[in-house]
Amino acid sequence: MAFYFVYRMNYVLEDSGLQLSEVNHSDLLHLQIQFLIGILSLMALVIIFLIFNRRYATYMNYEAKRDPLTGLANRRSFFQSCESAISGIEGGGRWFVMLDIDRFKQFNDRFGHPEGDLVLRAASQALLEVFDSRSIIGRVGGDEFAVLVLDATPRAMLEAKFASLVKRFHAIEQEGARVSCSIGAAQVEPGLNADELYLAADRLLYRAKAQGRDRFVIGETEAEGA
Ligand code: GH3
Ligand code: MG
Repeated sequence: MAFYFVYRMNYVLEDSGLQLSEVNHSDLLHLQIQFLIGILSLMALVIIFLIFNRRYATYMNYEAKRDPLTGLANRRSFFQSCESAISGIEGGGRWFVMLDIDRFKQFNDRFGHPEGDLVLRAASQALLEVFDSRSIIGRVGGDEFAVLVLDATPRAMLEAKFASLVKRFHAIEQEGARVSCSIGAAQVEPGLNADELYLAADRLLYRAKAQGRDRFVIGETEAEGA
């Protein structure tokens, strides 16, 4: 390009009756090369800036969807993911699960919020260990977690998962205090949206609390209820 530019400049100058010496010619070529290096450096800087900008935007987008304490999806992102996932569900055996830590206020009052935060982190870890990566897991409230189980899971298998969760909660034992949770699970029925499933699972969770906590209640499916 530099050669072409110098050639054209030479041509134009000669056309106007000006003859360039060898030295002028070489100087012009060097100036052109320097100019091109300048342009290329500027372009490289712009590309680097765009790459960093894009990465930062991706990171900010990821952060906006995350609960900072546990790293799980936050409430808004959990429900957004659920809405799109629910519309693609075909067939039964999918569940909307609500989990709430028992008497967590008391725990905080007794041991302080930093210890309570450790329990919340351990709780999210237990959920990640019990449910596979296809499940959508979120922290939807202070000590409230929700899971949308997307792989077809028969009731017996779900019960086994909950039994394992209950055990893992007992094993948290922060400061020697026993930690437990209550769980409600509603089956994903056709036509129900995420808010309706949340409500159904929350009612079952409330039943688990009312029955004495530290337990799970799985809702009847339409077929079972009939
Ligand atoms: P229940 O068995 O009926 O659920 O009793 P509870 O005391 O757990 O009642 P509830 O679920 O309403 O209490 C939620 C508590 O969670 C209230 C608040 O002190 C605590 N909490 C909410 N967010 C945080 C947090 O980010 N960190 C800590 N340490 N505690 C939190
Ligand atoms: Mg609670």
